[in-house]
Amino acid sequence: MFTMNPTEADTFMARLEAGQSLRMLTGGAGEPPICSTEAFRRHCELHPEWGAKTLALVEANSKSRIQDGIVKRTTDRTACNQGHPLPPEVIARMQAERRYDHRWCEACARRWQGVGRYFAEEADVIEPPANVERLTLSGGSRFLSADDIALIESWLIRGASLRKLLGAWDVIRFRLALKNNPDLESRLRPIIERNAKVAVVVGSRKRRISHCKYGHELTIENTGIKPSNGSRFCLTCNRTFAGAPVTPQMLDNVERGLLTGMSVGDLTTPRDGKRPTITYAQWRTVRRTRPDINERFMRALRNPATIRSFMSGNTIARVPGLTLAAPVDFVRSDAPLYVPQEGDYEWLYSLTPRYLQRSARDEIVGDLFLELVERRVDRAGVPACAKRMVAAYNKENPMKAYGDIRTPLPLDAPAYLDGTISRVETVSDGLWV
Ligand SMILES: [Zn+2]
Ligand SMILES: [Zn+2]
Repeated sequence: MFTMNPTEADTFMARLEAGQSLRMLTGGAGEPPICSTEAFRRHCELHPEWGAKTLALVEANSKSRIQDGIVKRTTDRTACNQGHPLPPEVIARMQAERRYDHRWCEACARRWQGVGRYFAEEADVIEPPANVERLTLSGGSRFLSADDIALIESWLIRGASLRKLLGAWDVIRFRLALKNNPDLESRLRPIIERNAKVAVVVGSRKRRISHCKYGHELTIENTGIKPSNGSRFCLTCNRTFAGAPVTPQMLDNVERGLLTGMSVGDLTTPRDGKRPTITYAQWRTVRRTRPDINERFMRALRNPATIRSFMSGNTIARVPGLTLAAPVDFVRSDAPLYVPQEGDYEWLYSLTPRYLQRSARDEIVGDLFLELVERRVDRAGVPACAKRMVAAYNKENPMKAYGDIRTPLPLDAPAYLDGTISRVETVSDGLWV
């Protein structure tokens, strides 16, 4: 396959360093291409050091080009969003700062003055109390008591906004109280207005956050940009959100769980102190990012409630064109998903009586195994289940039931004795592999 020669690799690197995107270098954006994307990936594999450096640049360029696009869209203007022409000094400032602030339009600003939205930043900035909760006021009357008003006033003075303090009905009662008491109104009105502005300031500060809400700094490396709208997100959190890597074994277990009628809740809830079959984050990520596995899961569904949720309009990831009918004879089972463990064969085998023939014991072990896999029984219920099966077997095969106290095991039947470990191992290899 074609890869790059050293000169081309140097040009590639130089153009990346100049800020070009991978698309521009591989012929997708009207720029002279150097090579195909496949050739580039191949070159990366052949020259890991060069590859690591270029891939980092590719990612950085992609981010900064998206960012540039957003800046371009917001600053490529000669008028505000309302259509007021912008004066030259505002345009110059916009281009220098690479951003546009809607307060820079004087015509708009004048209109907002009444609302106080942007001018709230000029209000006396006080820190409003954290964790303001809705107040519980006296009930039973449309008039607030003196205690109620004192309580509201104390919170207002501390900077809490009325919206957070009072529910809709209490706001009406409070307005009535202000109307009936002009002194109170003139005392509290300025405080209420100041607090409303402060609340806006606090809200607007959030837009300039430097850390995500879990405290990860939004550095360039740790910041992702959504191409759809240019908003930022924390990559560390995003990774946590997506869950740990999923193994093929987990996918098999999930599929088996679904086939035996387990619901998403059954699969994603920790049980008996054990980890869930799959975490919800992993489940969601797999379904969203792997349509093939999503479809595999969907075809494995047996639980009617889960089928309904997959078929509903607001499912995480829809499989277009696939409709499922819920099985009519569905029986919900609470048994956990059976995950084979080392020694299970020996354990199941030990639950069958020694007096039975080898083949009979293996048959019962096979049946027990099936019951477990189909979740008709859990591990704790297996001994009782084995007893029932042995009883049923003896009933069906009365002649073969020998070897108990009354009919001692003949000496010429050593092959059917519960044998050595090695014999058990031979069979178990055959069963599990
Ligand atoms: Zn305007
Ligand atoms: Zn974070």
